[in-house]
Amino acid sequence: MNDPALNTPLLPLVAAVLGACFGSFLNVVAWRLPRQESIVLPPSHCPHCGTRLRWWQNIPLLGWLLLRGHCGYCAAPISLRYPLVELLSAGLWVAISQSQPVVMGPQAPALALMLAGWLLVSWLIPLVLIDLDHLWLPEPLCRFGLLLGLLTTAGLGWSQGGAVGARLLSHHLLAAGLGLVGFELVSRGAQRLLGKPALGLGDAKLAALLGAWLGLAGLGATVLLAVFGGALVGGLARISGKLGPKEPFPFGPFLAAGGIVVWIGGPQFWLGLWGMVG
Ligand SMILES: [Zn+2]
Repeated sequence: MNDPALNTPLLPLVAAVLGACFGSFLNVVAWRLPRQESIVLPPSHCPHCGTRLRWWQNIPLLGWLLLRGHCGYCAAPISLRYPLVELLSAGLWVAISQSQPVVMGPQAPALALMLAGWLLVSWLIPLVLIDLDHLWLPEPLCRFGLLLGLLTTAGLGWSQGGAVGARLLSHHLLAAGLGLVGFELVSRGAQRLLGKPALGLGDAKLAALLGAWLGLAGLGATVLLAVFGGALVGGLARISGKLGPKEPFPFGPFLAAGGIVVWIGGPQFWLGLWGMVG
């Protein structure tokens, strides 16, 4: 972080605690949103016996460890996914607090950039979880995520002067449009070739969201990473028999993961690995 006020050893700790707490909330969002339940009420309860959790059982990571992965009342197992998501969220929040993203321009204020990064990962985590569970990327989440990306771009761009702001916003708008149209065209082309849907329309909307946040180079690096990661993981899963030969698997998690590492590391770093940038 290039802001001395953020250069404190306390920051990673604060980021880890906040990230774990948000991860805990995002678990709830990913469970309840597809079921059209309120994300605030009722308070957390065991999905098996319905008993409300006590305050200490709600503590991220610790609650699960203290309960040894089982409901304290009915002993039903609590998925390992809950603490893993909390851990992932904490790790990403720490990584963002220690990074200097470049996709929002060279002089973007560090604190606002960090908050924006935290917002981006917290938006993507439930999208990934819902896509893994339901092969579905909810349209409103994609649409509002895209709008937030454009608003963030406008705000952070404006803080660097009108000319930088206008250039940044136009690049990110263009990337959002290209992401949507490009993925739709590829999806239609693949459907004609293979005779079945290859990519969901949700992937196009997620690509548009990522374009709004990352700009043209950022989206390009993200798509390359996602295609590479998807081919690798999908191929291994089919070879090992974990995935049937025609069984679909979600592409959204690869796009989201690519987008997060591009936000943190910058597109030049990742494109450089391919030898595409000198
Ligand atoms: Zn229970």
